[in-house]
Amino acid sequence: MITTDICIIGAGPVGLFTVFEAGLLKMRCHLIDALPQVGGQLSEIYPQKPIYDIPGYPEVKAQELVDNLMKQIEPFNPTFSLGERVDFLAKQDDGSFVLTTSDKTKVHAQVIVIAGGLGCFEPRKPVLENLENFEGKGITYMVKDPEQFRDKKVILAGGGDSALDWTIYLSQIAEKVTLVHRNETFRGAPDSAAKVFDLANNGKIDLILSSNLTKLSGNGHLQSVSMKNKAKEESTIETDYLIPLFGLSPKLGPIADWGLNIDKNAIEVDTTDYSTNVERIYAVGDINTYENKLKLILCGFHESAIMCHSAFKYVYPDQKLSFKYTTVNGVNSF
Ligand SMILES: Cc1cc2nc3c(=O)[nH]c(=O)nc-3n(C[C@H](O)[C@H](O)[C@H](O)COP(=O)(O)OP(=O)(O)OC[C@H]3O[C@@H](n4cnc5c(N)ncnc54)[C@H](O)[C@@H]3O)c2cc1C
Repeated sequence: MITTDICIIGAGPVGLFTVFEAGLLKMRCHLIDALPQVGGQLSEIYPQKPIYDIPGYPEVKAQELVDNLMKQIEPFNPTFSLGERVDFLAKQDDGSFVLTTSDKTKVHAQVIVIAGGLGCFEPRKPVLENLENFEGKGITYMVKDPEQFRDKKVILAGGGDSALDWTIYLSQIAEKVTLVHRNETFRGAPDSAAKVFDLANNGKIDLILSSNLTKLSGNGHLQSVSMKNKAKEESTIETDYLIPLFGLSPKLGPIADWGLNIDKNAIEVDTTDYSTNVERIYAVGDINTYENKLKLILCGFHESAIMCHSAFKYVYPDQKLSFKYTTVNGVNSF
């Protein structure tokens, strides 16, 4: 069991900055995110897009902002469980909580901060008979640890950046990589698409275009995948893994069942401290709602600062909080 002061659900920009604000008050944080990387929407949806409304940055690329946030919170040694969705929340007799993730990781925390943004990004799945039978037994929707595919036969499906990037990466370590895409052209970065065509031309991967997946076969574990081209010709390829990368769509997910007041997929909060209707649970960033809410990164940062000052009383019930500027004390002396 991981023990921490604050468990933050969501490692998007707001969850990450919460670590900084909590750290200034000597509160330790553990972050959980369903995605395999930190950064939330910034890293998942628009890493190369410039952002113009972060104070002090006339322009900053989304991924650069995430990288800087990670640097900023480094002194506070946060811990992470990535690629795991928070499924269950159990209140303890002393008011604290134990959270359980989809990988059965347990985290004990005095305070829960939900910084879940638009919710969990759930994979868009192909419509195939028997799909569920092979999930976790050859079918996976995200690459958590590429080493899992070393010396294996892998089929990837999709036409966006993830499909292209992972095809390029896995071509170096897998025994055989096949990329299947329903169109002739790719949606992902032209440079990555060019690399994939090069790999195919040089015989390093098999590229199957204008084809759709039609059938899965196996005995307990996936063994082969069938597909049909536009001329309705069917082919079957033996494989150890199928990785459909058809994009992610956000869903509020299990958080909706925790007894929180929800309005249109967002959690209602008290704007004096961004607390929810359940004591010791706060919600900050895109996931919360209140009158005049703006879904902006800078608004989430503000909410985190206010919220941490409120949460202090649960972590240090016997102490009085005294407000200090970082410029007076420096980050490491907090
Ligand atoms: C195309 C685009 C452009 C944008 N441009 C700007 C801009 O220029 N300026 C600006 O201020 N804002 C912009 N935004 C909005 C900005 O991205 C959001 O306000 C910001 O990402 C909110 O941060 P967050 O940390 O609250 O949530 P998110 O970034 O959504 O991160 C939430 C994280 O929580 C995780 N999560 C959710 N539920 C669970 C669960 N049960 N278990 C585990 N993990 C969970 C998700 O996987 C996700 O990683 C833009 C948004 C988009 C889509």
